[in-house]
Amino acid sequence: MIQLNALFAGFIIVFAAAALTRHALTRMNIGHLRKHGHLVPEAFRDEIDGATLARMRDYTVESSRFQSLETLVDDAILIAVLLGGVLPWIAGLIESWNIHAIWSGVLFFVTLYLASVFLDLPFSLYSTFVIEKKYGFSTITPRLWLADLAKSLAVSVILIALLFIPFFALIHWLPQSWWFAAWVFFALFQMLMIWLYPLVIAPLFNKYVPVQDEVLRERIMAMAGKAGLRAEGIFEVDAGKRSRHSNAYFTGLGKSKRIVLFDTLLATHSHDEIVAVLAHEIGHWKLRHVFKQLVAMESVSFAGFYLVWRLMGWPLLYETFGFAGPLPYAGLLLAAIVLKPLVFFFTPVGAAISRKYERDADNYVPGLIGSTRFLAQALKRLAKDNLANLHPHPTYVAFYYSHPPLAERVERLQAMDNARQP
Ligand SMILES: [Zn+2]
Repeated sequence: MIQLNALFAGFIIVFAAAALTRHALTRMNIGHLRKHGHLVPEAFRDEIDGATLARMRDYTVESSRFQSLETLVDDAILIAVLLGGVLPWIAGLIESWNIHAIWSGVLFFVTLYLASVFLDLPFSLYSTFVIEKKYGFSTITPRLWLADLAKSLAVSVILIALLFIPFFALIHWLPQSWWFAAWVFFALFQMLMIWLYPLVIAPLFNKYVPVQDEVLRERIMAMAGKAGLRAEGIFEVDAGKRSRHSNAYFTGLGKSKRIVLFDTLLATHSHDEIVAVLAHEIGHWKLRHVFKQLVAMESVSFAGFYLVWRLMGWPLLYETFGFAGPLPYAGLLLAAIVLKPLVFFFTPVGAAISRKYERDADNYVPGLIGSTRFLAQALKRLAKDNLANLHPHPTYVAFYYSHPPLAERVERLQAMDNARQP
């Protein structure tokens, strides 16, 4: 049984504070949109009409309401699982089989992962086949959706095993210092995944073919060369078989990059716009944003591993949540559950750093391609095609947004362009 002690009370207070903050931010954001949503921002006058604006508003309201509902249900399920003693019950069942500590840990996490996927299914189905369909984004067939589900379950179970077998082995062999070894192992695993993901996992879900358009290829290669990067390949991915949302990205750790363009982006944007979007991405690499973010992530995870290790050695943690005594896998999960609502309150820090990087990458663009005009144009088209929210509440932006709001960003790019060409 749960013990209603100070630790549990503290957890509930922080958990409720996080839930209320999330709810208040969403309400504030929807309220702001209702008040200002009928106004087309100055920079978008030539691109967006009243009907599109209304669709942007409806899509934002409907999808954020639905997301709120999903989070609320997730929170309720977590509290019910904790109060109902479900976790000690599963652990008791696994312990009664008397298997090695490493395997019981892996089994525990695989079980919880599968349960969470199945609980999420109704939400995933509704979002994909009702909301995304209604606004003309979703193109996925039920058959492809099922194939995706089967493949991602298989890949995830394999990854959980690859991560947790060495992890629980380290806990078993190095009870006093595993946190440091585990941190090193996770960091190396992450680098390995950055390299392997596009080569092994991503092709399971999509086809990547070299971009056929010779003129576009030449332009991208020339631009990458000018910036001192080597384009290892420029690929088109068949993202349009699932959704009409569009995007472009870079992968690779060193100077040589794989460039991936969504077929949906190629179909709706001019060469000038695609090159401008990639110039912004090159900006992120040249300004070492990717490296800095990796270093920041590993520093946070260093502190995280230490904290989790301390929490896992604390008998009160287990007693509070109904466990008879310390169990490494239970301790790991409980530490994560207790820390998660605390971490939520640091979201604005990461978001602010990311927004600064986005502005810096935008500033890099004119030096490489001479103008910010086409980037502004591409962003306007992306906003329209993706039905972006043009009127987010400033507090919501400060808390969550990884990019500056689109209206602000486009206005800034246009002002930069006007300043260059009087
Ligand atoms: Zn960016």
